[in-house]
Formats: sequence, C-alpha cells, structure tokens
Amino acid sequence: MAKIVVEQIPVLSDNYVTLLHEAGSGATAVVDPAVPEPVIERLDAKGWRLTHILNTHHHGDHTGGNLELVRRTGCAVVGAARDAGRIPGITVEVGEGDTFMLGAAAAVVLEVPGHTSGHIAFWFPDSHAVFCGDALFSLGCGRLFEGSPEEMWSSLKKLRELPPTTLVYCGHEYTAGNGRFARLVERDNPALHARLEQVERLRAANRPTVPTTIAEERAANPFLRADTAAVAKAVGMEPGTDPVRVFAELRRRKDAF
Ligand code: ZN
Ligand code: FE
Repeated sequence: MAKIVVEQIPVLSDNYVTLLHEAGSGATAVVDPAVPEPVIERLDAKGWRLTHILNTHHHGDHTGGNLELVRRTGCAVVGAARDAGRIPGITVEVGEGDTFMLGAAAAVVLEVPGHTSGHIAFWFPDSHAVFCGDALFSLGCGRLFEGSPEEMWSSLKKLRELPPTTLVYCGHEYTAGNGRFARLVERDNPALHARLEQVERLRAANRPTVPTTIAEERAANPFLRADTAAVAKAVGMEPGTDPVRVFAELRRRKDAF
C-alpha cells in the first residue's frame, strides 16, 4: 500500500502541474507538464529523478513540456490509448480500469471523456487522490470541446462515485470564477456558501483552492448535482427531468456566463 508525496507547481496563468513521488522506489511522475522548466527546477530542488509523465489529455497546456522533459530525462510518457496520436512522445498506452504502477503505488485509470474524447484520470486509491485534468474542476467542469453532455455527465458521475475523502487535483485554478456562476445556480446551498468563503480566504492569501475533495464537490458543485431538484429548478426544469438535459443546460449557461 505505497503512498505518494504530491508537489503542486503553479504555472502559466492558472495551470497546476503536479509532481508525484513514491519514496520507496524513488519513482517520480509529473502530471500534465504544461512547460518543462518549472518541472526541472522543482525536481532539482527535491533531488528527485523524473521517471514518468502522466497526461490526462492532449491539450497543449497539459502536454507542452512532454518532449523537452523526455529529452532531458528519458522518462516514459503515459497517456490514453484512445488518444495516442495526439499525446507527444507517448510510450505507455492505457485505458479504462488499467492499473499503472508508479514504483509501488498503484493508480487506476478512469476514462472520463467530454472535454476531449480521450480524456483520462489517474486515481491513486491508497493515497486518496485523483488527478483529473480538465474533466472536473472545483465548483465546475471542463468545457465540452469534443464530447456530448451525455458523455460528460457519465464521466462526472464516475468521478463522483470515488470515495468521499478522495483529494481532487484538477488542472486549473478556476474555483473563484466557477463559484460566481455556482452561486447563481444554488443560492440556498449552505455547502456552497461555506466553500465560497473558504475560497475567498485562500485566494486573498494567494493560496491554491486545489485540491478539493469528492465530498465537498458532491455537496457544492452544481455540475455534480444535475440530478437534484434544486439544480433542475434553477435552470427552469421540472424536478425529475433527465439529468443529462439539466447538465447540458447548465453547461450551456456557464459557457455564456
Ligand atoms: Zn484542456
Ligand atoms: Fe487545460
């Protein structure tokens, strides 16, 4: 039951790149390296040697550092088999339910399409952590660039079913902006109000709002709550409406927000 140590590196305007280190073996991964330099700097500071890149999806702000990091370290690149043609330097192709070992720490691969067709998440059950890129954000979710509302809703439900204590490491610091929209959807949700206050304190102190937890998102994130009467009502639909329709309308309104 090996656990991982997590190091978060804020890069560009709002991306989070994350280092994962399994101390027993020394194996070290970087999740979604947007750019190479800050990764190299942090590796040097920690005295870690990069063994793997884990990509959640193909977008440049998640893979831009791949080839330079491979050139500098010779590390492996793990990405979705379904999207192998778009993941620069991919060497290990994975899909739904596969287990990937970072040294002695196991990660389960979850396919979570919608933002892109080949989007995946890496769930480390023993470390109570999931790395989910741009599928799920705190108080929001990714835009549907390549998927239908149906696909994204089922991806979000899959993430929602992870143990409530699971730490959710998403790819961007979008929480405050997402919160401004969420507040319009569920005015009377106390969990949302508690989270918004916490987010305001964290951002005022220039601290990250990520990771969040599955429990917190289940309670406060409107996009995980499309099957509640409150959210259906908020988008002008009857309680009991197909959650896919509620989710689609919520996503449409957020896109126009
Ligand atoms: Zn993306
Ligand atoms: Fe992104």
